Amino acid sequence: MNIDFKELANKYQTPYYVYDFNHITAQYTQLKESFRARKSLIAYAVKANSNLSVIKHLANLGAGADCVSIGEVKRALKAGVPSYKIIFSGVGKSDEEIKEALNLDILLINVESAEELNRVETISKELNKVARISIRVNPNIDPKTHPYISTGLHENKFGVDIDTAKRMYIQCKNSESLEPTGIHCHIGSQLTQLQPIKDAIKIVADLIRNLKAIKIDLSFMDVGGGLGIVYKDEVLIDTYEYTQSILDVMFGLDLTIICEPGRFIVGNSGVFVTKVLYEKVNGNKRFIIVDGAMNDLIRPALYNAYHRIEVLNDNKEFSDCNLVGPVCESGDFFAKNIELPKTNHNDLIAIYSAGAYGFTMASNYNTRGRVAEIAVENGVDRLIRKRETFEDLIALEEEFIK
Ligand SMILES: *Cc1c(COP(=O)(O)O)cnc(C)c1O
Repeated sequence: MNIDFKELANKYQTPYYVYDFNHITAQYTQLKESFRARKSLIAYAVKANSNLSVIKHLANLGAGADCVSIGEVKRALKAGVPSYKIIFSGVGKSDEEIKEALNLDILLINVESAEELNRVETISKELNKVARISIRVNPNIDPKTHPYISTGLHENKFGVDIDTAKRMYIQCKNSESLEPTGIHCHIGSQLTQLQPIKDAIKIVADLIRNLKAIKIDLSFMDVGGGLGIVYKDEVLIDTYEYTQSILDVMFGLDLTIICEPGRFIVGNSGVFVTKVLYEKVNGNKRFIIVDGAMNDLIRPALYNAYHRIEVLNDNKEFSDCNLVGPVCESGDFFAKNIELPKTNHNDLIAIYSAGAYGFTMASNYNTRGRVAEIAVENGVDRLIRKRETFEDLIALEEEFIK
Protein backbone atom coordinates (compact mmCIF):
# COMPACT_ATOMS: atom_id res chain seq x y z
CA MET A 1 0.00 0.00 0.00
CA ASN A 2 1.59 3.23 -1.14
CA ILE A 3 -0.37 5.96 0.62
CA ASP A 4 1.04 9.15 2.12
CA PHE A 5 -0.91 9.31 5.38
CA LYS A 6 0.67 12.66 6.35
CA GLU A 7 -0.35 14.33 3.13
CA LEU A 8 -3.90 13.04 3.55
CA ALA A 9 -3.97 14.28 7.15
CA ASN A 10 -2.93 17.75 6.00
CA LYS A 11 -5.56 17.76 3.31
CA TYR A 12 -8.52 16.15 5.14
CA GLN A 13 -7.61 16.43 8.86
CA THR A 14 -7.84 13.47 11.25
CA PRO A 15 -9.15 10.98 12.10
CA TYR A 16 -9.97 9.46 8.73
CA TYR A 17 -10.44 6.16 6.95
CA VAL A 18 -8.57 5.64 3.71
CA TYR A 19 -9.29 2.78 1.30
CA ASP A 20 -6.98 1.48 -1.40
CA PHE A 21 -9.31 0.84 -4.32
CA ASN A 22 -6.58 -1.03 -6.22
CA HIS A 23 -6.49 -3.55 -3.39
CA ILE A 24 -10.28 -3.93 -3.59
CA THR A 25 -9.97 -4.61 -7.33
CA ALA A 26 -7.25 -7.19 -6.74
CA GLN A 27 -9.21 -9.06 -4.06
CA TYR A 28 -12.40 -9.12 -6.14
CA THR A 29 -10.54 -10.26 -9.24
CA GLN A 30 -8.66 -12.99 -7.39
CA LEU A 31 -11.89 -14.53 -6.12
CA LYS A 32 -13.81 -14.11 -9.35
CA GLU A 33 -10.96 -15.70 -11.29
CA SER A 34 -10.81 -18.70 -8.99
CA PHE A 35 -14.46 -19.42 -9.84
CA ARG A 36 -13.86 -19.09 -13.56
CA ALA A 37 -14.67 -22.72 -14.35
CA ARG A 38 -18.27 -22.06 -13.35
CA LYS A 39 -21.12 -19.57 -13.64
CA SER A 40 -20.64 -17.42 -10.56
CA LEU A 41 -21.75 -14.20 -8.96
CA ILE A 42 -19.65 -12.45 -6.35
CA ALA A 43 -22.25 -10.62 -4.28
CA TYR A 44 -20.31 -8.20 -2.13
CA ALA A 45 -21.57 -8.14 1.48
CA VAL A 46 -22.43 -4.47 1.72
CA LYS A 47 -22.45 -4.34 5.51
CA ALA A 48 -18.66 -4.72 5.61
CA ASN A 49 -18.24 -1.28 4.06
CA SER A 50 -21.29 0.39 2.58
CA ASN A 51 -19.80 3.60 1.26
CA LEU A 52 -21.52 4.28 -2.08
CA SER A 53 -18.19 4.77 -3.86
CA VAL A 54 -16.91 1.42 -2.58
CA ILE A 55 -20.05 -0.34 -3.80
CA LYS A 56 -19.89 1.51 -7.11
CA HIS A 57 -16.27 0.49 -7.60
CA LEU A 58 -17.28 -3.15 -7.11
CA ALA A 59 -20.39 -2.81 -9.27
CA ASN A 60 -18.16 -1.54 -12.09
CA LEU A 61 -16.09 -4.71 -11.73
CA GLY A 62 -19.27 -6.79 -12.13
CA ALA A 63 -20.05 -7.55 -8.50
CA GLY A 64 -23.53 -8.04 -7.11
CA ALA A 65 -24.57 -7.15 -3.57
CA ASP A 66 -25.57 -9.13 -0.53
CA CYS A 67 -27.72 -6.90 1.67
CA VAL A 68 -29.10 -7.29 5.17
CA SER A 69 -31.57 -4.40 5.23
CA ILE A 70 -33.66 -2.59 2.66
CA GLY A 71 -31.38 0.39 3.26
CA GLU A 72 -28.46 -1.65 1.98
CA VAL A 73 -30.55 -2.82 -1.00
CA LYS A 74 -31.22 0.82 -1.87
CA ARG A 75 -27.56 1.71 -1.41
CA ALA A 76 -26.59 -1.06 -3.81
CA LEU A 77 -29.10 0.12 -6.41
CA LYS A 78 -28.01 3.73 -5.98
CA ALA A 79 -24.38 2.69 -6.50
CA GLY A 80 -25.26 0.98 -9.76
CA VAL A 81 -25.64 -2.68 -8.84
CA PRO A 82 -28.38 -4.04 -11.11
CA SER A 83 -31.43 -5.44 -9.28
CA TYR A 84 -30.84 -8.87 -10.78
CA LYS A 85 -27.56 -9.10 -8.86
CA ILE A 86 -28.97 -8.13 -5.45
CA ILE A 87 -29.75 -10.56 -2.63
CA PHE A 88 -31.57 -9.69 0.57
CA SER A 89 -30.63 -11.72 3.68
CA GLY A 90 -31.34 -11.31 7.39
CA VAL A 91 -33.33 -12.97 10.17
CA GLY A 92 -35.71 -10.09 10.80
CA LYS A 93 -37.09 -8.51 7.65
CA SER A 94 -40.10 -6.28 8.29
CA ASP A 95 -43.25 -6.39 6.13
CA GLU A 96 -42.25 -3.04 4.67
CA GLU A 97 -38.80 -4.32 3.74
CA ILE A 98 -40.24 -7.44 2.10
CA LYS A 99 -42.72 -5.34 0.14
CA GLU A 100 -40.03 -2.98 -1.11
CA ALA A 101 -37.71 -5.83 -2.02
CA LEU A 102 -40.47 -7.44 -4.09
CA ASN A 103 -41.29 -4.15 -5.80
CA LEU A 104 -37.61 -3.60 -6.60
CA ASP A 105 -37.53 -7.05 -8.22
CA ILE A 106 -34.20 -8.14 -6.75
CA LEU A 107 -32.64 -11.51 -7.56
CA LEU A 108 -33.36 -13.41 -4.34
CA ILE A 109 -34.88 -13.06 -0.92
CA ASN A 110 -32.92 -15.23 1.50
CA VAL A 111 -35.59 -16.50 3.86
CA GLU A 112 -34.46 -17.45 7.36
CA SER A 113 -37.58 -18.92 9.03
CA ALA A 114 -40.84 -20.71 8.23
CA GLU A 115 -42.81 -17.74 9.52
CA GLU A 116 -40.89 -15.36 7.32
CA LEU A 117 -41.73 -17.53 4.30
CA ASN A 118 -45.43 -17.20 5.19
CA ARG A 119 -45.07 -13.41 5.38
CA VAL A 120 -43.30 -13.29 2.01
CA GLU A 121 -46.03 -15.50 0.50
CA THR A 122 -48.82 -13.30 1.83
CA ILE A 123 -47.14 -10.09 0.72
CA SER A 124 -46.21 -11.31 -2.75
CA LYS A 125 -49.79 -12.53 -3.23
CA GLU A 126 -51.09 -9.09 -2.25
CA LEU A 127 -48.71 -7.45 -4.70
CA ASN A 128 -49.54 -9.98 -7.39
CA LYS A 129 -45.89 -10.94 -7.70
CA VAL A 130 -43.84 -14.09 -7.64
CA ALA A 131 -41.06 -13.99 -5.05
CA ARG A 132 -37.80 -15.72 -5.92
CA ILE A 133 -36.89 -17.56 -2.74
CA SER A 134 -33.63 -18.82 -1.42
CA ILE A 135 -33.66 -20.54 1.96
CA ARG A 136 -30.85 -20.05 4.42
CA VAL A 137 -29.87 -23.41 5.78
CA ASN A 138 -28.20 -23.66 9.17
CA PRO A 139 -25.99 -26.74 8.82
CA ASN A 140 -25.06 -26.87 12.52
CA ILE A 141 -21.35 -26.66 11.80
CA ASP A 142 -18.86 -24.98 14.09
CA PRO A 143 -16.93 -22.54 11.89
CA LYS A 144 -14.10 -22.24 14.46
CA THR A 145 -14.14 -18.46 14.64
CA HIS A 146 -14.99 -15.82 17.26
CA PRO A 147 -18.39 -16.68 18.85
CA TYR A 148 -19.79 -13.22 18.00
CA ILE A 149 -19.22 -13.83 14.30
CA SER A 150 -20.22 -17.49 14.22
CA THR A 151 -23.57 -18.06 12.47
CA GLY A 152 -23.66 -21.71 11.39
CA LEU A 153 -24.63 -23.44 14.63
CA HIS A 154 -28.18 -24.23 15.76
CA GLU A 155 -27.47 -22.10 18.85
CA ASN A 156 -27.07 -19.10 16.52
CA LYS A 157 -30.20 -17.29 15.36
CA PHE A 158 -29.51 -17.70 11.64
CA GLY A 159 -31.21 -19.92 9.07
CA VAL A 160 -33.33 -23.07 9.47
CA ASP A 161 -32.45 -26.73 9.90
CA ILE A 162 -32.44 -29.10 6.92
CA ASP A 163 -35.85 -30.65 7.58
CA THR A 164 -37.53 -27.29 7.97
CA ALA A 165 -35.81 -26.08 4.80
CA LYS A 166 -37.15 -29.05 2.88
CA ARG A 167 -40.70 -28.38 4.04
CA MET A 168 -40.30 -24.73 3.08
CA TYR A 169 -39.15 -25.63 -0.43
CA ILE A 170 -42.23 -27.84 -0.84
CA GLN A 171 -44.37 -24.93 0.30
CA CYS A 172 -42.69 -22.76 -2.38
CA LYS A 173 -43.28 -25.35 -5.07
CA ASN A 174 -46.97 -25.52 -4.17
CA SER A 175 -47.42 -21.76 -4.03
CA GLU A 176 -48.29 -19.53 -6.97
CA SER A 177 -46.54 -16.56 -5.42
CA LEU A 178 -43.28 -18.25 -4.43
CA GLU A 179 -40.60 -19.65 -6.68
CA PRO A 180 -37.94 -21.89 -5.12
CA THR A 181 -34.81 -20.45 -6.75
CA GLY A 182 -31.78 -20.73 -4.52
CA ILE A 183 -30.24 -22.14 -1.41
CA HIS A 184 -28.06 -20.26 1.00
CA CYS A 185 -25.63 -21.02 3.76
CA HIS A 186 -23.23 -18.72 5.63
CA ILE A 187 -21.53 -20.21 8.67
CA GLY A 188 -19.52 -17.30 10.00
CA SER A 189 -16.95 -14.62 9.46
CA GLN A 190 -13.14 -14.42 9.47
CA LEU A 191 -12.98 -18.13 8.58
CA THR A 192 -9.47 -19.52 8.34
CA GLN A 193 -10.29 -23.24 8.13
CA LEU A 194 -11.63 -24.88 5.01
CA GLN A 195 -13.03 -28.05 6.54
CA PRO A 196 -16.11 -26.48 8.21
CA ILE A 197 -16.99 -24.77 4.90
CA LYS A 198 -16.62 -28.07 3.03
CA ASP A 199 -18.80 -29.86 5.60
CA ALA A 200 -21.48 -27.19 5.36
CA ILE A 201 -21.53 -27.17 1.57
CA LYS A 202 -21.73 -30.95 1.48
CA ILE A 203 -24.89 -30.77 3.60
CA VAL A 204 -26.34 -28.13 1.29
CA ALA A 205 -25.43 -30.10 -1.85
CA ASP A 206 -27.13 -33.20 -0.44
CA LEU A 207 -30.28 -31.17 0.11
CA ILE A 208 -30.09 -29.83 -3.45
CA ARG A 209 -29.97 -33.44 -4.73
CA ASN A 210 -32.86 -34.44 -2.46
CA LEU A 211 -34.93 -31.58 -3.77
CA LYS A 212 -34.08 -32.48 -7.37
CA ALA A 213 -35.51 -35.94 -6.71
CA ILE A 214 -38.86 -34.36 -5.88
CA LYS A 215 -38.73 -32.06 -8.91
CA ILE A 216 -37.58 -28.92 -7.15
CA ASP A 217 -34.78 -27.54 -9.30
CA LEU A 218 -32.82 -24.68 -7.85
CA SER A 219 -30.73 -22.31 -9.98
CA PHE A 220 -28.43 -20.72 -7.40
CA MET A 221 -26.27 -22.08 -4.65
CA ASP A 222 -25.09 -19.34 -2.32
CA VAL A 223 -22.06 -20.47 -0.34
CA GLY A 224 -22.03 -17.38 1.88
CA GLY A 225 -19.09 -15.19 2.68
CA GLY A 226 -16.74 -15.34 5.61
CA LEU A 227 -13.31 -15.77 4.01
CA GLY A 228 -10.77 -14.52 6.53
CA ILE A 229 -7.99 -12.00 6.06
CA VAL A 230 -4.62 -11.43 7.71
CA TYR A 231 -4.86 -9.14 10.70
CA LYS A 232 -1.77 -10.51 12.43
CA ASP A 233 -0.33 -13.90 11.46
CA GLU A 234 -3.38 -15.87 10.35
CA VAL A 235 -2.85 -18.63 7.80
CA LEU A 236 -5.58 -18.10 5.24
CA ILE A 237 -7.72 -20.41 3.20
CA ASP A 238 -6.30 -20.56 -0.31
CA THR A 239 -8.98 -19.15 -2.61
CA TYR A 240 -8.26 -21.71 -5.31
CA GLU A 241 -8.65 -24.59 -2.83
CA TYR A 242 -11.79 -22.92 -1.53
CA THR A 243 -13.47 -22.75 -4.92
CA GLN A 244 -12.16 -26.16 -5.91
CA SER A 245 -13.70 -27.78 -2.85
CA ILE A 246 -17.02 -26.11 -3.63
CA LEU A 247 -16.87 -27.32 -7.22
CA ASP A 248 -16.01 -30.86 -6.07
CA VAL A 249 -19.04 -31.05 -3.82
CA MET A 250 -21.22 -29.60 -6.58
CA PHE A 251 -20.22 -32.30 -9.04
CA GLY A 252 -23.05 -33.00 -11.47
CA LEU A 253 -25.12 -30.03 -10.29
CA ASP A 254 -25.57 -27.19 -12.73
CA LEU A 255 -26.23 -24.26 -10.42
CA THR A 256 -24.77 -20.77 -10.54
CA ILE A 257 -22.57 -20.26 -7.52
CA ILE A 258 -23.03 -17.13 -5.45
CA CYS A 259 -20.35 -16.13 -3.00
CA GLU A 260 -20.83 -13.23 -0.58
CA PRO A 261 -17.50 -11.97 0.69
CA GLY A 262 -17.33 -8.75 2.67
CA ARG A 263 -14.21 -8.64 4.81
CA PHE A 264 -12.12 -10.50 2.20
CA ILE A 265 -12.80 -7.78 -0.38
CA VAL A 266 -12.36 -4.63 1.70
CA GLY A 267 -10.76 -5.53 5.05
CA ASN A 268 -7.14 -4.97 4.17
CA SER A 269 -7.89 -2.10 1.80
CA GLY A 270 -8.60 0.19 4.73
CA VAL A 271 -6.50 2.08 7.25
CA PHE A 272 -7.82 4.18 10.10
CA VAL A 273 -5.53 7.13 10.71
CA THR A 274 -5.63 9.06 13.94
CA LYS A 275 -3.31 11.57 15.61
CA VAL A 276 -1.76 11.74 19.04
CA LEU A 277 -3.27 14.22 21.46
CA TYR A 278 -1.38 13.39 24.65
CA GLU A 279 0.72 10.87 26.44
CA LYS A 280 0.34 10.28 30.14
CA VAL A 281 1.36 7.87 32.86
CA ASN A 282 -1.02 6.69 35.60
CA GLY A 283 1.01 4.94 38.28
CA ASN A 284 3.29 2.97 36.03
CA LYS A 285 0.87 2.53 33.14
CA ARG A 286 1.63 4.53 30.01
CA PHE A 287 -1.26 5.74 27.82
CA ILE A 288 -1.23 7.26 24.36
CA ILE A 289 -4.43 9.24 23.84
CA VAL A 290 -5.47 9.82 20.22
CA ASP A 291 -8.26 11.74 18.49
CA GLY A 292 -9.91 8.55 17.14
CA ALA A 293 -12.01 6.39 19.43
CA MET A 294 -14.19 3.31 19.83
CA ASN A 295 -17.11 5.11 18.19
CA ASP A 296 -14.98 5.27 15.02
CA LEU A 297 -13.57 1.74 15.12
CA ILE A 298 -15.26 -0.54 17.64
CA ARG A 299 -13.68 -3.89 16.75
CA PRO A 300 -11.08 -3.90 19.54
CA ALA A 301 -13.72 -3.03 22.14
CA LEU A 302 -16.38 -5.37 20.73
CA TYR A 303 -14.40 -8.48 19.79
CA ASN A 304 -11.07 -7.76 21.42
CA ALA A 305 -9.92 -7.68 17.79
CA TYR A 306 -6.27 -7.24 16.89
CA HIS A 307 -5.27 -4.48 14.48
CA ARG A 308 -1.68 -3.85 13.46
CA ILE A 309 -0.66 -0.41 14.67
CA GLU A 310 2.13 1.80 13.41
CA VAL A 311 3.26 5.10 14.86
CA LEU A 312 4.43 7.31 12.01
CA ASN A 313 7.49 8.88 13.59
CA ASP A 314 11.18 8.02 13.70
CA ASN A 315 11.41 7.44 17.42
CA LYS A 316 13.23 4.23 18.33
CA GLU A 317 12.44 4.35 22.04
CA PHE A 318 9.67 1.72 22.46
CA SER A 319 7.82 0.91 25.65
CA ASP A 320 4.64 -0.77 26.80
CA CYS A 321 1.42 1.27 26.67
CA ASN A 322 -2.31 1.31 26.00
CA LEU A 323 -3.55 3.14 22.92
CA VAL A 324 -6.84 4.81 23.82
CA GLY A 325 -9.36 7.36 22.59
CA PRO A 326 -11.18 10.24 24.28
CA VAL A 327 -14.53 8.45 24.78
CA CYS A 328 -15.77 8.04 28.35
CA GLU A 329 -15.60 4.23 28.50
CA SER A 330 -12.79 2.01 29.71
CA GLY A 331 -13.56 -0.15 26.67
CA ASP A 332 -12.34 2.72 24.50
CA PHE A 333 -9.03 1.31 23.38
CA PHE A 334 -7.36 0.28 20.12
CA ALA A 335 -4.69 -1.84 21.79
CA LYS A 336 -3.62 -2.75 25.29
CA ASN A 337 -0.15 -3.66 26.50
CA ILE A 338 1.48 -2.90 23.18
CA GLU A 339 5.07 -1.74 22.58
CA LEU A 340 4.97 1.63 20.84
CA PRO A 341 7.56 4.38 20.45
CA LYS A 342 7.49 7.59 22.41
CA THR A 343 5.09 9.97 20.66
CA ASN A 344 4.63 13.71 20.43
CA HIS A 345 1.54 15.84 20.02
CA ASN A 346 0.17 15.51 16.43
CA ASP A 347 2.16 12.38 15.51
CA LEU A 348 0.06 10.16 13.24
CA ILE A 349 -0.86 6.57 14.03
CA ALA A 350 -2.04 4.12 11.36
CA ILE A 351 -4.40 1.33 12.40
CA TYR A 352 -4.39 -1.27 9.65
CA SER A 353 -6.94 -3.81 8.37
CA ALA A 354 -9.75 -1.37 9.11
CA GLY A 355 -11.61 -1.47 5.79
CA ALA A 356 -14.29 -3.94 6.93
CA TYR A 357 -16.66 -3.42 9.87
CA GLY A 358 -14.86 -0.18 10.68
CA PHE A 359 -16.76 2.83 9.43
CA THR A 360 -20.01 0.85 9.04
CA MET A 361 -20.05 0.13 12.78
CA ALA A 362 -19.23 3.72 13.72
CA SER A 363 -21.59 5.72 15.89
CA ASN A 364 -22.00 9.26 17.16
CA TYR A 365 -21.44 8.29 20.80
CA ASN A 366 -20.17 11.23 22.85
CA THR A 367 -21.51 13.53 20.08
CA ARG A 368 -18.55 12.75 17.89
CA GLY A 369 -19.13 13.20 14.17
CA ARG A 370 -18.25 10.23 12.03
CA VAL A 371 -14.90 10.71 10.31
CA ALA A 372 -14.05 11.42 6.69
CA GLU A 373 -13.60 8.55 4.23
CA ILE A 374 -11.04 8.80 1.45
CA ALA A 375 -10.37 6.61 -1.57
CA VAL A 376 -6.98 6.23 -3.19
CA GLU A 377 -6.78 4.73 -6.66
CA ASN A 378 -3.73 4.70 -8.91
CA GLY A 379 -2.03 7.14 -6.57
CA VAL A 380 -4.87 9.67 -6.68
CA ASP A 381 -6.89 10.46 -3.56
CA ARG A 382 -10.47 11.67 -3.35
CA LEU A 383 -12.98 12.28 -0.61
CA ILE A 384 -15.84 9.74 -0.65
CA ARG A 385 -17.62 10.84 2.54
CA LYS A 386 -17.41 14.18 4.31
CA ARG A 387 -16.57 14.39 7.98
CA GLU A 388 -19.82 14.92 9.91
CA THR A 389 -20.25 18.35 11.48
CA PHE A 390 -21.97 19.33 14.71
CA GLU A 391 -24.86 20.61 12.57
CA ASP A 392 -25.22 17.16 10.96
CA LEU A 393 -25.40 15.58 14.39
CA ILE A 394 -28.24 17.73 15.68
CA ALA A 395 -30.16 18.12 12.43
CA LEU A 396 -32.91 15.65 13.31
CA GLU A 397 -33.43 16.98 16.84
CA GLU A 398 -33.10 20.70 16.62
CA GLU A 399 -36.66 21.50 15.55
CA PHE A 400 -38.06 19.68 18.58
CA ILE A 401 -36.38 21.71 21.33
CA LYS A 402 -39.09 23.34 23.42
C1 LIG B 1 -21.96 -10.68 7.12
C2 LIG B 1 -22.40 -11.59 6.05
C3 LIG B 1 -21.55 -11.89 5.00
C4 LIG B 1 -20.14 -11.37 4.87
O1 LIG B 1 -19.30 -11.82 5.84
P1 LIG B 1 -17.73 -11.56 5.69
O2 LIG B 1 -17.14 -12.26 6.83
O3 LIG B 1 -17.53 -10.09 5.77
O4 LIG B 1 -17.31 -12.11 4.39
C5 LIG B 1 -22.03 -12.71 3.99
N1 LIG B 1 -23.29 -13.20 4.04
C6 LIG B 1 -24.13 -12.92 5.04
C7 LIG B 1 -25.49 -13.48 5.02
C8 LIG B 1 -23.71 -12.12 6.08
O5 LIG B 1 -24.55 -11.86 7.08
